[in-house]
Amino acid sequence: MAQYTLPDLPYDYGDLAPAISGEIMELHHDKHHAAYVKGTNDTLDQLAEARDNGALGGLVGLEKTLAFNLSGHKLHSIFWTNLSPEGGDRPDGELADRIVEDFGSFDAFKSQLTTATAAVQGSGWGVLAHDPLGDRLIVTQVYDHHGNVGVDTTPLLVFDAWEHAYYLQYKNVRPDYVSELWNIVNWQNVAERYTAATAK
Ligand code: MN
Repeated sequence: MAQYTLPDLPYDYGDLAPAISGEIMELHHDKHHAAYVKGTNDTLDQLAEARDNGALGGLVGLEKTLAFNLSGHKLHSIFWTNLSPEGGDRPDGELADRIVEDFGSFDAFKSQLTTATAAVQGSGWGVLAHDPLGDRLIVTQVYDHHGNVGVDTTPLLVFDAWEHAYYLQYKNVRPDYVSELWNIVNWQNVAERYTAATAK
């Protein structure tokens, strides 16, 4: 049976500083993301055991735990590749054109994703996603890792708004962290995700 595995970071822990400190990156990847991977595998094992034993009384809780951990694993896997020490500036090409088409301007889009991320109540994410049904880009607020998600939308750019993502460095000032994230966005990665999503 396939096991989920923790992907390596595509850069060193300290490479995203000063936007994100190496201490945060190491804890975030090696402890938090790793826990979601383990949680996914462990929950699938428990589900298999429950099936084998015909003991599905705890199914509702296990399904919630699976959704939480698997979504956390996926979002973090996207988040690391969405960032780069050489990131920042703005997208160009088709992605840039589509952002203007669907949000009015890059600045309007940036303002919406910034606010969506900074204004998450509790723990969650700000997300730029592609919706295949309308073939358009949308900004969404995801709660925890899996709440308030538009079904079947494809995340292209995800901003982690959990306190573990910034608190050691930014304390309670989440907007300053979000502002710094824009300086390390790997637009080439976002554009590749856009191309793959729209090619489906
Ligand atoms: Mn996180």
